[in-house]
Amino acid sequence: MQTKFNRVPEEERSSRLVLIARFEDSMKDCTGSECLSTTPLGDAAPPQRADSCGFNRRSFLRLAVLGSGALLVPCDLLEALEIPTASNAANPVLPASAALRPLAPGAVRADGWLAGWLGKQADGLGYHLPDTSWPFSAPYWQGQEVNGQSEEWWPWEQKAYWIDGATRLALVTGDERLLRRVQEPLEYTLAHQRPEGYLGPDVIRNPAGNFHRWPHTLFIRALAADADAIRSDAALRDAIVEAVRKHYLGDLASYGVPIRNITNVEDMLWCYERTGDPRLLAMAETAWADYAALGGKEDGADLQADRVFANTPIDAHGVSYAEIAKQPAILYMYTGRLEYLNFALAAQKRIFDHHMLIDGIPSTSEHYSTVTALDSHETCDITDHTWSWGYMMMATGNGLWGDRVERACFNAGMGAIKKDWKGVQYFSCPNQFLATQTSDHNAMNLGHQMMSYQPNPGHATACCGGDVHRLFPNYVIRMWMRDTQGGLAAALYGPCRVNTTAGKDHHPIEIVETTDYPFDEQIHFTLDMRKPVEFPLSLRIPGWCAQPSLLLNGQAQPLPAAKNRFVTLARKFHPGDTVTLVLPMSTAVSRWPDNGAGLERGPLVYSLPIKEQWTPVIEPRWSTADFPSWNAEPASVWNYGLAVDPAKLADEVRFERKAMTPDPWVDPPVSLIAPAQIIESWKLATVPAKPDAAADAPQQHLTPPLPSADARRAAGPEQQVTLVPYGSTHLRLTIFPRLGGGTAGYADATG
Ligand SMILES: [Zn+2]
Repeated sequence: MQTKFNRVPEEERSSRLVLIARFEDSMKDCTGSECLSTTPLGDAAPPQRADSCGFNRRSFLRLAVLGSGALLVPCDLLEALEIPTASNAANPVLPASAALRPLAPGAVRADGWLAGWLGKQADGLGYHLPDTSWPFSAPYWQGQEVNGQSEEWWPWEQKAYWIDGATRLALVTGDERLLRRVQEPLEYTLAHQRPEGYLGPDVIRNPAGNFHRWPHTLFIRALAADADAIRSDAALRDAIVEAVRKHYLGDLASYGVPIRNITNVEDMLWCYERTGDPRLLAMAETAWADYAALGGKEDGADLQADRVFANTPIDAHGVSYAEIAKQPAILYMYTGRLEYLNFALAAQKRIFDHHMLIDGIPSTSEHYSTVTALDSHETCDITDHTWSWGYMMMATGNGLWGDRVERACFNAGMGAIKKDWKGVQYFSCPNQFLATQTSDHNAMNLGHQMMSYQPNPGHATACCGGDVHRLFPNYVIRMWMRDTQGGLAAALYGPCRVNTTAGKDHHPIEIVETTDYPFDEQIHFTLDMRKPVEFPLSLRIPGWCAQPSLLLNGQAQPLPAAKNRFVTLARKFHPGDTVTLVLPMSTAVSRWPDNGAGLERGPLVYSLPIKEQWTPVIEPRWSTADFPSWNAEPASVWNYGLAVDPAKLADEVRFERKAMTPDPWVDPPVSLIAPAQIIESWKLATVPAKPDAAADAPQQHLTPPLPSADARRAAGPEQQVTLVPYGSTHLRLTIFPRLGGGTAGYADATG
């Protein structure tokens, strides 16, 4: 469904079929030897042809800078490949044990509300972050190298998060202005590669320091996205792949220690897939062995095998654990060694068994913690856990991971971002009754600004302001994946269209996915291709859906047996075929510590929205008049308890739906009406002014814990309150104090 927020012009969303037709036409005059090889019919784009068979400007510039030549091969060597590869690579490989593989950035384009959301990101902080706040305003990865000899690693990390996120955002939206801006650091860094291969700043070139290879993990992700993008040509792809190969193979750093160097395994194996260079695989496996022998005990990520397999609570920093724990799942995809996969699965189990909050992200402020109504998460943990769970879905082929990514993005992710894409929280929480410059209720920086919505909410600790930009572009990139049989899998749902290939002969196909999901239960797929194509089409059946149903060309179909939370239609599809998946949602209530309760329906958690009184604050260095920091004070009643008996949920909580709205995260079309009672004595908490505040500074207000049993017993008369999707709120009550009701009938909301 198109909305007024859909910012991608119709002509730019031209079908893959048109692109292929243009490509075929353009090749008619080709005489052979001068043609540039590419990856024509896989997930990569047809070659971008400039004059006759020459390079386009982008590839020419890159090649001129790098002095790297791509092989020129005859047109008749063009063939369909599963993956984008460097044409001068000897033996590109596949992740043979991966059940699912990602498509190239740009193969999936958002429609409907999702396109509107990405458009707001691109027009807001996606483009303007470098105009608002340090370190994004400084030329890290773009010339700061010559000035920054006394600096630490962390500005390089923070800017690299934005570079990666903005690159992916530009690639999935086709936003040329953003692409031009974000390509400047990519091109600068590639052009300044050291003779031995090192990419990046001298200040962290010495591998001895902590975190000194961590920023590279993030920056090389951006290069990888640029290389793989559907719009990129073979020359650009070759140049990047070779630069990354040279970087790793020339590096003398230990990648097993110290902390987070091991995260480079992800990028090493990306390069291994595209080059087949066995030294990269060996390097990655050696790094993990070194980490397991040394780092797991010494770096604080709590990934010692004995603790992982004992399923203990995690005693570690959230981002470190999320980024490191997934590495063995990636190693499994390239080696088939089950011990890697078993380790990764066990490491993930700890997150869900001990730390998961109702909104789909574990408590991580910044270490993993308990699951009370005040436990929060760092926004980097939303981006990084979902990034990792995407890999878990590829490694296992299990749609469970898709459920988890959706829950995290629609609830915790949306809930941490200001809906005009002009601010983001560093710490966000299911219960946050205010979000001001002094309302951080977490132990880390208690009473400081990290829960307010700002362009850069962490100030000098600027990770989240950059990392948030990766979240939804990666969601879009991973909505569709390729299986091992030439089929396609709908892994994450939402309005979009995918242009790729399917079937044994890699036939070009477009699938238009029309839906208002997660605000609706119906998802329509329309298939467009030149001829009938036989391939498996797999659709994820979420774990929360008890009675899914399926229609083919409007006719009800028996639902195939689900395997790993996917049903597969393996048949010959015809041009214009339609498939409709119906995923009925039902309301559920879950129970939380301190006698708390929360409501959800399908992938959406519901909250009492608290009206905000917004006050802008301009903080030199961290925000501007156009992109200020914000104080949000509560301007409506929030101190409700939930008077719901779980055994009578269907009678006591009413679901309401109105027509789809143009911007559903601002004006949600769905709501729950639930009985509640005011708890009069439940007030905002106050703490003494923070140590560095002026002597006459007012007391600071914080979101309080759930009220006492005595306070609940004095609750007022029952009334009906309207709850909306958590992701549509800025201030919210999500974990309610329970008032009465039995103890039976609660759902497990931890995924
Ligand atoms: Zn962060």
